[in-house]
Amino acid sequence: MIDELSTIIDTHAHLYDVPDVAAALRAASDAGVSDIILPGVDLVSNRRHCELRAKHTGGLQPRLHLALGLHPGNIIPDEIEPCFSFMRAHAGEAVAIGETGLDFFYKWVRKDDTKKDEQRAVFGRHLELAREFNLPVIVHCRGAWREALDMVKAAGISAADFHWYSGPEDVLKDILDAGFVISCSPALEYSAEVRKAALYAPLESILVETDTPVMIPGPARERVPSTPKDVWRTLRALAALKGVDEAVALKGANALARSFFHLPDFEG
Ligand SMILES: [Zn+2]
Repeated sequence: MIDELSTIIDTHAHLYDVPDVAAALRAASDAGVSDIILPGVDLVSNRRHCELRAKHTGGLQPRLHLALGLHPGNIIPDEIEPCFSFMRAHAGEAVAIGETGLDFFYKWVRKDDTKKDEQRAVFGRHLELAREFNLPVIVHCRGAWREALDMVKAAGISAADFHWYSGPEDVLKDILDAGFVISCSPALEYSAEVRKAALYAPLESILVETDTPVMIPGPARERVPSTPKDVWRTLRALAALKGVDEAVALKGANALARSFFHLPDFEG
């Protein structure tokens, strides 16, 4: 069992999209969330995360960490350059590059090679930035799992998180063989694909996250927006799926998050 003093890290929360951030942070703090990684998806969200982090310093829990990215679903041609200028200017303050990647599931992308090429070009620039600043990458890879992995490998990236992995097992095998990791969200409770991936991957290659504010089942099975405190649901689902003690799963998840994002050790 997990004791009351246990802390946990949410490795993926889009706080910019949470209506009451102060309440979400209070709930996270009360629940023992020590650190939250904030992946941006466009210029506005990257900027908002920078502001949130600047306001929330001085030993306040949970600690907020920046990840800078332009999500494949948020590419607007006129905003690409301003977004990259912003990301470059703030990369020194970030713990990762992302959320970036490829998503060929979107209706407007499926049959449009120009849109796919646009995603590839933007993803490629993120990988260059990650190399330059020696940062890990948070990869969104829905419907383009193999190609996303190939691009990460070709770019010589040393640390990559294949976020909310729900793809085929052969690609997952190659992700793990390359020394990369996956992350799981509370979808572990209900998604067959996510559960399959989490069963296949070893615990030491699985980060836990919420993808806040993605909707999750509420107490009466209604759908409610997630917040970082819900990372405990991911952890509990993972421990149950793997048949291990929650404390064991927690220790592994925290150790991986700290080493992957180079987070300082929890003090006190
Ligand atoms: Zn996300």
